[in-house]
Amino acid sequence: MPLFRKDPFGRAWVLISPERGLVASDFGSVLPFPERSPLSSGNERETGPEIAAVRPSGTVPDGPGWRMRVIAQPSALVEPRAFREEGDELFRQAPSSGYQELIVEHPDARMTLDAMPRNHLVDVLRLYRERLALLAAHPDIRHVQITRNVGRAAGALYQHPHAQLLAVPVGSRWVEEEVESAHRYTRDHGGCLFCDVLARELKLRERVVTSNDSYVAIAPYAAKTPFETWILPREHDSAFTGVAANTLPQLADLLQTVVRGLNDALDHPPYNLLVHTLPASGDASFHWHIEVLPRLTRQAGFDWGSGFYVNPTPPEDAARFLREALALQEVQE
Ligand SMILES: [Zn+2]
Ligand SMILES: [Zn+2]
Repeated sequence: MPLFRKDPFGRAWVLISPERGLVASDFGSVLPFPERSPLSSGNERETGPEIAAVRPSGTVPDGPGWRMRVIAQPSALVEPRAFREEGDELFRQAPSSGYQELIVEHPDARMTLDAMPRNHLVDVLRLYRERLALLAAHPDIRHVQITRNVGRAAGALYQHPHAQLLAVPVGSRWVEEEVESAHRYTRDHGGCLFCDVLARELKLRERVVTSNDSYVAIAPYAAKTPFETWILPREHDSAFTGVAANTLPQLADLLQTVVRGLNDALDHPPYNLLVHTLPASGDASFHWHIEVLPRLTRQAGFDWGSGFYVNPTPPEDAARFLREALALQEVQE
Protein backbone atom coordinates (compact mmCIF):
# COMPACT_ATOMS: atom_id res chain seq x y z
CA MET A 1 0.00 0.00 0.00
CA PRO A 2 1.43 3.40 -0.89
CA LEU A 3 2.10 5.56 2.15
CA PHE A 4 2.22 9.27 2.77
CA ARG A 5 5.15 10.11 5.01
CA LYS A 6 5.75 13.52 6.51
CA ASP A 7 9.34 14.67 6.16
CA PRO A 8 10.33 15.56 9.75
CA PHE A 9 12.99 17.93 8.39
CA GLY A 10 10.77 19.91 6.02
CA ARG A 11 7.26 20.81 5.01
CA ALA A 12 6.75 18.16 2.34
CA TRP A 13 4.81 14.94 2.47
CA VAL A 14 6.44 12.18 0.46
CA LEU A 15 4.51 9.40 -1.25
CA ILE A 16 6.34 6.09 -0.75
CA SER A 17 4.94 3.99 -3.56
CA PRO A 18 6.61 0.60 -4.07
CA GLU A 19 3.92 -0.38 -6.61
CA ARG A 20 5.43 2.02 -9.03
CA GLY A 21 8.55 -0.12 -9.02
CA LEU A 22 12.09 1.03 -9.44
CA VAL A 23 12.69 1.23 -13.14
CA ALA A 24 16.23 0.55 -14.28
CA SER A 25 18.33 3.67 -14.03
CA ASP A 26 17.51 6.19 -16.74
CA PHE A 27 21.07 7.38 -16.67
CA GLY A 28 23.31 4.32 -16.64
CA SER A 29 26.74 4.00 -15.08
CA VAL A 30 29.20 6.87 -14.72
CA LEU A 31 32.04 4.51 -15.64
CA PRO A 32 34.51 4.55 -17.20
CA PHE A 33 36.23 7.70 -16.02
CA PRO A 34 38.65 9.11 -18.60
CA GLU A 35 42.35 8.79 -18.03
CA ARG A 36 42.77 12.53 -18.30
CA SER A 37 40.55 15.59 -17.95
CA PRO A 38 41.04 19.37 -18.07
CA LEU A 39 41.57 19.16 -14.29
CA SER A 40 44.36 16.58 -14.52
CA SER A 41 47.91 17.23 -13.45
CA GLY A 42 49.75 18.80 -16.38
CA ASN A 43 46.65 20.73 -17.56
CA GLU A 44 46.85 23.45 -14.92
CA ARG A 45 46.84 26.22 -17.56
CA GLU A 46 43.44 25.06 -18.84
CA THR A 47 41.74 26.30 -15.69
CA GLY A 48 41.92 29.57 -13.80
CA PRO A 49 44.91 30.24 -11.56
CA GLU A 50 44.95 28.36 -8.26
CA ILE A 51 43.65 30.13 -5.18
CA ALA A 52 45.24 27.57 -2.89
CA ALA A 53 46.78 24.14 -3.17
CA VAL A 54 48.14 21.28 -1.15
CA ARG A 55 51.51 20.70 -2.80
CA PRO A 56 54.97 19.72 -1.60
CA SER A 57 57.54 22.49 -1.17
CA GLY A 58 59.67 22.94 -4.24
CA THR A 59 56.71 22.78 -6.64
CA VAL A 60 55.33 26.01 -8.09
CA PRO A 61 51.74 27.31 -8.20
CA ASP A 62 49.87 26.30 -11.38
CA GLY A 63 52.49 23.67 -12.11
CA PRO A 64 52.29 19.91 -11.53
CA GLY A 65 53.15 18.11 -8.28
CA TRP A 66 50.05 19.09 -6.29
CA ARG A 67 47.84 16.77 -4.26
CA MET A 68 44.74 19.04 -4.23
CA ARG A 69 44.00 22.37 -5.88
CA VAL A 70 41.48 25.14 -5.19
CA ILE A 71 40.54 27.18 -8.26
CA ALA A 72 37.86 29.73 -9.07
CA GLN A 73 34.64 28.13 -10.27
CA PRO A 74 34.55 28.39 -14.09
CA SER A 75 31.78 30.78 -15.22
CA ALA A 76 30.91 31.67 -11.63
CA LEU A 77 27.45 33.09 -11.07
CA VAL A 78 28.40 35.31 -8.17
CA GLU A 79 31.19 37.81 -7.59
CA PRO A 80 32.81 39.01 -4.41
CA ARG A 81 31.12 42.32 -3.63
CA ALA A 82 28.94 43.81 -0.93
CA PHE A 83 25.34 42.62 -0.72
CA ARG A 84 23.13 45.60 -1.55
CA GLU A 85 19.41 45.00 -1.74
CA GLU A 86 17.14 47.51 -3.39
CA GLY A 87 13.39 47.71 -3.95
CA ASP A 88 10.44 47.19 -1.67
CA GLU A 89 8.24 44.40 -0.33
CA LEU A 90 6.98 43.56 -3.82
CA PHE A 91 10.06 43.79 -6.00
CA ARG A 92 13.45 43.27 -4.46
CA GLN A 93 16.83 42.69 -6.06
CA ALA A 94 20.55 42.83 -5.45
CA PRO A 95 23.62 42.36 -7.66
CA SER A 96 24.63 38.70 -7.25
CA SER A 97 27.38 38.48 -4.69
CA GLY A 98 29.29 35.70 -2.98
CA TYR A 99 32.06 33.19 -3.52
CA GLN A 100 32.37 30.07 -5.64
CA GLU A 101 35.34 27.75 -5.62
CA LEU A 102 36.15 24.41 -7.14
CA ILE A 103 38.32 21.91 -5.32
CA VAL A 104 40.18 19.43 -7.52
CA GLU A 105 40.44 16.49 -5.15
CA HIS A 106 43.13 14.46 -6.87
CA PRO A 107 45.53 14.91 -9.81
CA ASP A 108 44.24 11.63 -11.33
CA ALA A 109 40.80 11.77 -13.00
CA ARG A 110 40.08 8.14 -12.14
CA MET A 111 40.67 8.58 -8.40
CA THR A 112 37.00 8.75 -7.39
CA LEU A 113 35.93 9.28 -3.79
CA ASP A 114 35.57 5.58 -3.14
CA ALA A 115 38.86 4.71 -4.88
CA MET A 116 41.22 7.27 -3.36
CA PRO A 117 43.44 6.22 -0.44
CA ARG A 118 41.72 6.96 2.85
CA ASN A 119 44.41 9.36 4.08
CA HIS A 120 44.03 11.36 0.87
CA LEU A 121 40.27 11.64 1.45
CA VAL A 122 40.92 12.75 5.05
CA ASP A 123 43.08 15.58 3.66
CA VAL A 124 40.33 16.46 1.16
CA LEU A 125 37.82 16.71 4.04
CA ARG A 126 40.26 18.88 5.98
CA LEU A 127 40.58 21.15 2.95
CA TYR A 128 36.75 21.38 2.68
CA ARG A 129 36.60 22.48 6.30
CA GLU A 130 39.40 25.01 5.89
CA ARG A 131 37.98 26.62 2.70
CA LEU A 132 34.44 26.67 4.04
CA ALA A 133 35.57 28.43 7.23
CA LEU A 134 37.38 31.08 5.14
CA LEU A 135 34.34 31.66 2.90
CA ALA A 136 31.92 31.71 5.85
CA ALA A 137 33.99 34.42 7.54
CA HIS A 138 33.26 36.99 4.82
CA PRO A 139 30.71 39.64 5.84
CA ASP A 140 27.01 39.08 4.99
CA ILE A 141 27.37 35.34 4.26
CA ARG A 142 24.16 33.56 5.16
CA HIS A 143 24.50 30.23 3.36
CA VAL A 144 27.49 28.01 2.59
CA GLN A 145 27.45 24.69 0.79
CA ILE A 146 29.65 21.92 -0.51
CA THR A 147 28.38 19.96 -3.49
CA ARG A 148 29.93 16.99 -5.22
CA ASN A 149 28.33 16.11 -8.54
CA VAL A 150 29.33 12.82 -10.10
CA GLY A 151 28.26 12.04 -13.67
CA ARG A 152 26.78 14.32 -16.31
CA ALA A 153 23.23 13.39 -15.28
CA ALA A 154 24.01 14.77 -11.83
CA GLY A 155 25.25 18.02 -13.34
CA ALA A 156 28.99 17.35 -13.07
CA LEU A 157 31.11 19.89 -14.93
CA TYR A 158 34.02 17.49 -15.21
CA GLN A 159 34.58 13.74 -15.17
CA HIS A 160 37.20 14.18 -12.49
CA PRO A 161 36.79 14.06 -8.70
CA HIS A 162 35.96 17.58 -7.60
CA ALA A 163 33.76 19.53 -5.20
CA GLN A 164 32.12 22.93 -5.52
CA LEU A 165 31.93 25.43 -2.68
CA LEU A 166 29.43 28.25 -2.55
CA ALA A 167 28.97 31.06 -0.03
CA VAL A 168 26.16 33.56 -0.58
CA PRO A 169 24.32 36.28 1.36
CA VAL A 170 20.91 34.71 0.63
CA GLY A 171 19.34 31.58 2.09
CA SER A 172 18.93 28.19 0.40
CA ARG A 173 15.32 27.00 0.29
CA TRP A 174 16.17 23.43 1.36
CA VAL A 175 18.46 24.31 4.24
CA GLU A 176 16.11 27.06 5.44
CA GLU A 177 13.25 24.59 5.53
CA GLU A 178 15.37 22.26 7.67
CA VAL A 179 16.40 25.13 9.92
CA GLU A 180 12.77 26.15 10.32
CA SER A 181 11.70 22.58 11.22
CA ALA A 182 14.63 22.25 13.62
CA HIS A 183 13.84 25.51 15.43
CA ARG A 184 10.15 24.64 15.69
CA TYR A 185 11.03 21.24 17.15
CA THR A 186 13.36 22.74 19.74
CA ARG A 187 10.78 25.34 20.70
CA ASP A 188 8.00 22.73 21.12
CA HIS A 189 9.91 19.75 22.50
CA GLY A 190 13.37 20.98 23.57
CA GLY A 191 16.50 19.23 22.29
CA CYS A 192 17.66 18.78 18.71
CA LEU A 193 15.40 17.27 16.06
CA PHE A 194 18.33 15.60 14.30
CA CYS A 195 19.81 14.14 17.52
CA ASP A 196 16.36 12.77 18.46
CA VAL A 197 15.75 11.24 15.02
CA LEU A 198 19.24 9.72 15.10
CA ALA A 199 18.62 8.18 18.54
CA ARG A 200 15.31 6.72 17.33
CA GLU A 201 16.89 5.34 14.13
CA LEU A 202 19.69 3.69 16.15
CA LYS A 203 17.08 2.05 18.38
CA LEU A 204 14.97 0.81 15.44
CA ARG A 205 17.94 -0.18 13.22
CA GLU A 206 15.56 -0.57 10.26
CA ARG A 207 16.95 2.31 8.22
CA VAL A 208 20.56 2.33 9.46
CA VAL A 209 22.91 1.50 6.58
CA THR A 210 26.18 1.53 8.50
CA SER A 211 27.77 3.33 11.44
CA ASN A 212 30.94 3.83 13.44
CA ASP A 213 31.81 5.59 16.72
CA SER A 214 31.39 9.09 15.29
CA TYR A 215 29.01 8.86 12.30
CA VAL A 216 25.83 7.08 11.24
CA ALA A 217 24.48 6.54 7.70
CA ILE A 218 20.72 6.16 7.37
CA ALA A 219 18.06 5.98 4.68
CA PRO A 220 15.83 8.83 5.91
CA TYR A 221 12.26 8.00 6.97
CA ALA A 222 10.70 10.23 4.30
CA ALA A 223 13.36 9.72 1.62
CA LYS A 224 12.40 11.84 -1.39
CA THR A 225 14.34 9.78 -3.92
CA PRO A 226 15.33 6.09 -4.16
CA PHE A 227 18.43 5.24 -2.13
CA GLU A 228 18.74 8.70 -0.64
CA THR A 229 21.32 8.26 2.13
CA TRP A 230 22.24 10.67 4.92
CA ILE A 231 25.38 10.71 7.01
CA LEU A 232 25.03 12.36 10.41
CA PRO A 233 27.67 13.01 13.05
CA ARG A 234 26.71 11.57 16.45
CA GLU A 235 28.15 14.70 18.08
CA HIS A 236 25.84 17.71 17.81
CA ASP A 237 27.25 20.64 15.87
CA SER A 238 25.43 23.07 13.60
CA ALA A 239 28.40 23.53 11.25
CA PHE A 240 30.74 21.28 9.35
CA THR A 241 33.47 23.85 10.07
CA GLY A 242 33.25 22.76 13.73
CA VAL A 243 33.97 19.10 12.97
CA ALA A 244 36.75 17.66 15.17
CA ALA A 245 39.84 16.74 13.15
CA ASN A 246 40.18 13.41 14.95
CA THR A 247 36.80 12.24 13.60
CA LEU A 248 37.65 12.96 9.94
CA PRO A 249 39.16 9.47 9.34
CA GLN A 250 35.86 7.99 10.51
CA LEU A 251 33.92 10.32 8.24
CA ALA A 252 36.15 9.31 5.32
CA ASP A 253 35.50 5.64 6.13
CA LEU A 254 31.75 6.06 6.22
CA LEU A 255 31.66 8.13 3.03
CA GLN A 256 33.67 5.50 1.18
CA THR A 257 31.49 2.71 2.55
CA VAL A 258 28.27 4.45 1.50
CA VAL A 259 29.52 5.28 -1.99
CA ARG A 260 30.89 1.75 -2.45
CA GLY A 261 27.52 0.33 -1.38
CA LEU A 262 25.64 2.54 -3.84
CA ASN A 263 28.11 1.76 -6.63
CA ASP A 264 27.73 -1.94 -6.01
CA ALA A 265 23.97 -1.99 -5.57
CA LEU A 266 23.16 0.44 -8.39
CA ASP A 267 26.07 -0.02 -10.81
CA HIS A 268 27.92 3.26 -10.33
CA PRO A 269 25.00 5.69 -10.57
CA PRO A 270 25.38 9.43 -11.10
CA TYR A 271 24.91 11.12 -7.72
CA ASN A 272 24.94 14.42 -5.87
CA LEU A 273 26.55 14.73 -2.48
CA LEU A 274 25.51 17.77 -0.46
CA VAL A 275 26.83 19.03 2.84
CA HIS A 276 24.00 20.79 4.67
CA THR A 277 25.49 23.11 7.24
CA LEU A 278 25.13 26.52 8.86
CA PRO A 279 28.03 28.93 8.28
CA ALA A 280 29.08 28.62 11.94
CA SER A 281 28.77 26.39 15.02
CA GLY A 282 26.67 27.39 18.02
CA ASP A 283 23.05 26.73 16.99
CA ALA A 284 21.56 24.17 19.40
CA SER A 285 18.81 23.23 16.91
CA PHE A 286 20.51 22.67 13.57
CA HIS A 287 22.74 19.62 13.04
CA TRP A 288 25.02 19.48 9.98
CA HIS A 289 24.82 16.38 7.81
CA ILE A 290 25.67 14.99 4.40
CA GLU A 291 23.01 13.90 1.91
CA VAL A 292 23.93 11.50 -0.90
CA LEU A 293 21.32 11.49 -3.65
CA PRO A 294 21.74 8.94 -6.46
CA ARG A 295 20.18 10.13 -9.72
CA LEU A 296 18.22 7.13 -10.92
CA THR A 297 14.96 8.34 -12.38
CA ARG A 298 13.58 11.43 -13.96
CA GLN A 299 10.86 12.94 -11.80
CA ALA A 300 7.49 12.30 -13.44
CA GLY A 301 5.10 15.15 -14.17
CA PHE A 302 2.97 14.31 -11.14
CA ASP A 303 5.89 14.87 -8.82
CA TRP A 304 6.86 18.25 -10.16
CA GLY A 305 3.39 19.52 -10.89
CA SER A 306 1.93 18.75 -7.49
CA GLY A 307 4.93 19.51 -5.33
CA PHE A 308 4.88 15.92 -4.01
CA TYR A 309 7.78 13.56 -4.17
CA VAL A 310 6.95 10.03 -5.21
CA ASN A 311 9.59 7.54 -4.12
CA PRO A 312 9.23 3.99 -5.47
CA THR A 313 11.85 2.54 -3.07
CA PRO A 314 10.85 2.40 0.62
CA PRO A 315 13.87 3.57 2.63
CA GLU A 316 13.74 0.35 4.72
CA ASP A 317 14.26 -1.66 1.50
CA ALA A 318 17.05 0.66 0.33
CA ALA A 319 18.87 0.37 3.68
CA ARG A 320 18.56 -3.44 3.70
CA PHE A 321 19.75 -3.66 0.10
CA LEU A 322 22.80 -1.50 0.87
CA ARG A 323 23.60 -3.48 4.05
CA GLU A 324 23.52 -6.68 2.03
CA ALA A 325 25.73 -5.22 -0.72
CA LEU A 326 28.24 -4.12 1.94
CA ALA A 327 28.20 -7.48 3.72
CA LEU A 328 28.90 -9.18 0.41
CA GLN A 329 31.85 -6.84 -0.23
CA GLU A 330 33.28 -7.76 3.17
CA VAL A 331 33.04 -11.47 2.39
CA GLN A 332 34.82 -10.94 -0.92
CA GLU A 333 37.65 -8.94 0.62
ZN1 LIG B 1 21.79 17.56 17.12
ZN1 LIG C 1 19.65 18.31 4.69
